[in-house]
Amino acid sequence: MHPDFSIDAQGKMIDYARNAQKAGISELCFTTHLDLVPEREHIDGFVRVNGEVHPVDSGWIPDYFEEVIKVQDRFQSKGLLIRIGLEVDYHPAVEHEIDQITSEFPFDYILGAVHSIEGQSIAVPEDCRVLCRDKKPEELCQSYFDLLMQAVKSNLFDSLAHLDLYKRFSYDLYKDQINHAHNKYWEPVCKEIVKQKTAVEINTGNLRKGFSQPNPSEDLLTDLYEAGAEYITVGSDAHHPSLVGYHILEAYRVAERIGFENIYRFVGRSASKAVQFKDSEAVAI
Ligand SMILES: [Zn+2]
Repeated sequence: MHPDFSIDAQGKMIDYARNAQKAGISELCFTTHLDLVPEREHIDGFVRVNGEVHPVDSGWIPDYFEEVIKVQDRFQSKGLLIRIGLEVDYHPAVEHEIDQITSEFPFDYILGAVHSIEGQSIAVPEDCRVLCRDKKPEELCQSYFDLLMQAVKSNLFDSLAHLDLYKRFSYDLYKDQINHAHNKYWEPVCKEIVKQKTAVEINTGNLRKGFSQPNPSEDLLTDLYEAGAEYITVGSDAHHPSLVGYHILEAYRVAERIGFENIYRFVGRSASKAVQFKDSEAVAI
């Protein structure tokens, strides 16, 4: 989830933690955005620290750790564990910078995401329209999965965020065609995810935007399961405290229905089982 260090998010970490506790959540991870994509530096390349917006390369990470640690200390005795992570926007030109930042600081969890193609954000409807204007659905899939393949091969990420985000706003243009345009491009990426043992996040953000399935959709998750993937993480992608844990049990149900046996968490960049599905009941461990 994204506290107000992310410029597209609102709310202090403490408010996220309070709401998590009220909702009966026992563990959460902050994953504020780290966007270093050169083509979008002037739009996305910022963070907010104490209400002030700074460039993303302004040395803010110690402030981020300081605030997480304060909230961790306050809530640990109340039964809420708080982890520290980042959601990193992947671009091949900044692999070295991503590696430096994620190695220098003791993060628990690094979530990798492809948010933009050719400088246009696939998470912004107007940008997505510009991007798709002269593209067939297969061409969008080719561009997206080419970047995702590089992200997986870079081995920089513990888990991949909202794996089929490209469908969210291109659906308006392509309708159902976009749901069937991925196979040729997705299949090798799916195999690479299994080979690298990269986790995949089931992200429930789509559900609050009127879609019936989280990202990725069940057909992609089924492909992953059948290819031998094991590591599934979950995220509500909350950008406001009121959305902490939004429909997270739906993500559990999807994973279990497909056949996955566990939901994983990352601590100190290592995966361990957070939830085990037993006798049709999710057991937190
Ligand atoms: Zn994202």
